[in-house]
Amino acid sequence: MSENNLTEAAENIKKIIRNVPDFPKKGILFKDITPLLADHAAFRETVRLMAEPYRGRGITKVLGIEARGFLLAAPIALELRAGLVPVRKKGKLPYTTVSATYELEYGQDTLQIHEDSLGKNEKVLIVDDVLATGGTASAVCELVNKLGAQVAGITMLIELEFLKGRNKLAGRDVHSLIKY
Ligand code: AMP
Repeated sequence: MSENNLTEAAENIKKIIRNVPDFPKKGILFKDITPLLADHAAFRETVRLMAEPYRGRGITKVLGIEARGFLLAAPIALELRAGLVPVRKKGKLPYTTVSATYELEYGQDTLQIHEDSLGKNEKVLIVDDVLATGGTASAVCELVNKLGAQVAGITMLIELEFLKGRNKLAGRDVHSLIKY
């Protein structure tokens, strides 16, 4: 797809994402993707465009980050003929897990993955809806590394560029469809 066509497609998708001020707390402009998920043609195009840079790259597993990341990661995994692996908040996965803890604005959070979900040297694509400060994606990279697999890339629907999340992901192959 040419750069112009890509821009046009991304602009169409951008129009369908709803901005909700002061959610979940004052000062946050929440990017609500539910209207996009409800629009079959736009959702289909979003999945295709997020998968596109990683087609033919030998991706074996797609990792979805709880919870909105799951909704995008599942169809992207099917698109790339790869398996799907969930990364969840602490205490949600039933089997033995490996954890990574990262700093939030106030406090810490812990993400977990099943210890047997990635084989050594698997090529992994990480998927989420929004790249903000990059703390979440960087913790997920740590989980992948702990299991001996390789992060082939990170594909995000939305990037909040002013938060400079890419700085935390230096040296990684990061794609985002829509930038603010
Ligand atoms: P971060 O770790 O700061 O990059 O935050 C990324 C996580 O927080 C993602 O899982 C997003 O779903 C969520 N997130 C951060 N900022 C927003 C926002 N403005 N709108 C919607 N989700 C957000």
